[in-house]
Amino acid sequence: MSETQLKEIITPSNKEVIIVAEQAEGLVQNVTFELLGAGRILADKLGGGKLSCFLLGHNIKQQASRLIGYGADAVYVADHPQLKDYRSLPYKKVIVDWIDKFELPPHIMLMGSSTTGRDLAPRIAAYFKTGLTADCTELDIGSYEHINKMDPDKLGYYPGCLYAIRPSFGESLKARILGPWKNPQMATARLGVMIPLEYDANRSGEIIEVPVNLTETELALEIIEIVREVNQTVNLAEAEVIVAGGFGLGTAEGFNLLKELADCFPNSAIGASRKVVDLNWITYPHQIGQTGKTVRPKIFIACGISGAIQHRVGMDKSALIIAINKDPDASIFKFAHKGIVGDVYSIVPEMIKALKKTKNEEYALV
Ligand SMILES: Cc1cc2nc3c(=O)[nH]c(=O)nc-3n(C[C@H](O)[C@H](O)[C@H](O)COP(=O)(O)OP(=O)(O)OC[C@H]3O[C@@H](n4cnc5c(N)ncnc54)[C@H](O)[C@@H]3O)c2cc1C
Repeated sequence: MSETQLKEIITPSNKEVIIVAEQAEGLVQNVTFELLGAGRILADKLGGGKLSCFLLGHNIKQQASRLIGYGADAVYVADHPQLKDYRSLPYKKVIVDWIDKFELPPHIMLMGSSTTGRDLAPRIAAYFKTGLTADCTELDIGSYEHINKMDPDKLGYYPGCLYAIRPSFGESLKARILGPWKNPQMATARLGVMIPLEYDANRSGEIIEVPVNLTETELALEIIEIVREVNQTVNLAEAEVIVAGGFGLGTAEGFNLLKELADCFPNSAIGASRKVVDLNWITYPHQIGQTGKTVRPKIFIACGISGAIQHRVGMDKSALIIAINKDPDASIFKFAHKGIVGDVYSIVPEMIKALKKTKNEEYALV
């Protein structure tokens, strides 16, 4: 360690990482398990840190033990009819009221960079007058030494800082963003990037009920009806098999053939490169990559996709990547597990024929 003064922003009583769970219609969303996986690593790196999870909703208490199975040491449950659906002001009020009761604020707070997280996280950060890094693709713990004499109050060595890492400068660089002066250090995490832990029913933890005291002010906004857009149902995050198409399809109609291939698998979805989304061949919710979704299916079939880095970062953690491309030098063959050199329009129909033939046989996913 340097000669600069040690700043005790992390103490034994605040080594707590809090994540905020997301639920929709009473169902805990995948991003919660992803955040628990990332939060567990951070809490352990703090040296015996505690991982807590805030769960807000109505009739959701019974789901708290699941969150413990996925890594939480404690679950703060706010179960109330007024919290059934997400609303900015009530959710923020319940969370900050609870944290205000702590002797010291928690060290770290994390949310998903979903619509809910993007709305709630800045409200909480503003309340605590702390920083917030949005849309992180990596999170870590490390130290920071502040040597800039322009900030004499801040000079010092800060251990246990949150390293909030995200693409920057048009997504061409990775930036490590720190806010060591103030707790909680806050970040939202990109969906589908953090890895959930294996569920362990034997894990133990505390379930703590959180009081809900809302005033007229927080309840001013009423939800009359929730209407889900049909194209929001593109469930790339849950699909076990993704068939993705790129510019090599030549036309928007090429996706009809890919849909036929996807339909050969029980739990599948259609993905796309940005180039074809920009051309309006398919809608944005299908886009995979740096400015689209990050996916990790059991099988990813890339059809007529070159494998540009911005696409690759969104899909290269798939368990099995099969690439079909007529150019033997296409970049995608450098990281695909299986490569087929050929025309999509000759290969894909053959695959469909073969898969349909085995339809009545038991189909086991890898
Ligand atoms: C800031 C920034 C962010 C970006 N974000 C994303 C992102 O999130 N996602 C994304 O995908 N891209 C993104 N891009 C764009 C990316 O750089 C590429 O331009 C894009 O991924 C290319 O799409 P493609 O592979 O479909 O097209 P191309 O690169 O044109 O590749 C088409 C491929 O199809 C093959 N082909 C042609 N005809 C056939 C055929 N009949 N059968 C088989 N193969 C055939 C060709 O050999 C070629 O390899 C981003 C770019 C920038 C600058």
